[in-house]
This record gives sequence, structure tokens and C-alpha cells, in this order.
Amino acid sequence: MVGDVGAARPGAGWPGDPATNRTPVARTPRQVTELSGAQSVCELRARISVCRACPRLVEWREQVARERRRAFAGQAYWGRPVPGFGAAEPKVLIVGLAPAAHGANRTGRMFTGDRSGDWLYAALHRAGLANQPTSVSAEDGLALRATYITAPVHCAPPANKPTPAERDACRPWLAGELELLWPQLRAVVVLGAFGWAALWPALSAAGVAMPVRPPPFGHGVEADVQGRTVIGCYHVSQQNTFTGRLTEPMLDAVLARATDIAGLSADGLI
Ligand code: SF4
Repeated sequence: MVGDVGAARPGAGWPGDPATNRTPVARTPRQVTELSGAQSVCELRARISVCRACPRLVEWREQVARERRRAFAGQAYWGRPVPGFGAAEPKVLIVGLAPAAHGANRTGRMFTGDRSGDWLYAALHRAGLANQPTSVSAEDGLALRATYITAPVHCAPPANKPTPAERDACRPWLAGELELLWPQLRAVVVLGAFGWAALWPALSAAGVAMPVRPPPFGHGVEADVQGRTVIGCYHVSQQNTFTGRLTEPMLDAVLARATDIAGLSADGLI
């Protein structure tokens, strides 16, 4: 199925598409705020997946989906905002940065179809939080155990760099996710300094009582927030994993810590 408009049409059969052609579309940051108060994660995911509030990112994600990388020239691209993905009642939340142009922007699922995802899902599988070590497409059978993955920016940005205005425009979606998921969460793993900085105002917007001064980002840094533990982790970007800044044992240790805090033993594999 290769689309001719650069993006999957809502409700047109993309595997796992949460939206329909009746899902309300946010076209401005103000409308993002208005629509982010969804009553369920399902509805929130649907609304995120059709958002058009950031003109530069809408243009970029659809251009990438039209032009495609040569290796994927025969595939359709998702080309829409990538909603969060995971278990219905998660105890562990993972917060990244933004979808990759030819990864999640192609497959429509967080960290799916690129090297960063290879790293993350292999580690989640080792930690007992994923039923398989690979994540290649939205219909590959991957399921997460008590874990949910999201990002402070839901559209692929040029050069992986959202502008401050785009980060701020997307904040209500993350705040909406936090509001719905917070009651059952026990640990939040934040991949990278961008996500770390974006998390605190989103938590505040979600009505969570904040530490007076959140600690600066660092690998393994922890902060207690209303009885939940927020843990910093270097991002699983190729820049970090190729250079050895982030190693498998380092990532495994963070996920083991989160799993332990959440009371999820590694032998309870899904
Ligand atoms: Fe909407 Fe967020 Fe994408 Fe901006 S980055 S268009 S707010 S989903």
C-alpha cells in the first residue's frame, strides 16, 4: 500500500491506526490544548495521530513520506504524528524525543523501524517488558508489559531538532497522557536531556506536584515525584550507541531499576 498523498489517511486501514475520519483535528496550538483533555488513552492517541498544529512539521513529515528513502521506496509511510504505544495500564513510562523520519514516521509506531528502536526494544525484551526483541512494523505482533512509550514531540522534525515553539505546541498532548497514566505509573524513564527538560512543564500542566528544583539531566539521575521515580537515561540514538556513550549494560541497568521500582519481576514475561 503506497499512498499518493504522503501520509496514511485516518481510518483507511493502517494497522493500529487509532483515528477515524471523524477524529477531531487540532490545527493550532490552542486547539491542541482544547483537544488534549480526552477522556481515554484511546481517544487521546487518535487525536494526537491527526494533529496538524505545527506547519513546518506537517510539511516535513508528509514530504518525507512522499519522497521516501530508497531502501523503503516500495513502502507506504505513515507520515502523521506518532501516538504513544504500549500497555493499557502501564507502570513504567518511557519518554523519548521525537519520531525518526524513516523510523516511526514510516511505520507509525514509536521507535519502530530504526536502529534506535532495535536497541530499545531488545533491552525491553531483556528486561521482561516486551514480548519480542525486535520492532519492525506496526503489525509485527509486538506487545509491551506494563510499559508505555511516548515522546514530548509527536512529529518527526528535520535534523531531529524540534523548535521550542513546536515543543511547546506539543506539550498538552504529553500532559494529557501524563494525566491519564499517572495514577498507575511507578517509574518514568526519560531518554535524553531534551525529554528530561520537556517532562517537567508537562507534569506541571498535568497537575502533578513538582519538586521545587528538578535535578539536572544525567544518566542514572533519579527524582522522586509524588512517590514515582523519574530516571534519566542517555538516549538510544546511534550517536550515543555507536560511540559507546550508552552501552547495553547501562541501558539494562536503568530498565532493571525501573522494573524493580514498578514491582515487575523479569521472570513474568508476556
Ligand atoms: Fe501536533 Fe505535536 Fe505534531 Fe505539532 S509536533 S503537529 S503539536 S502532534
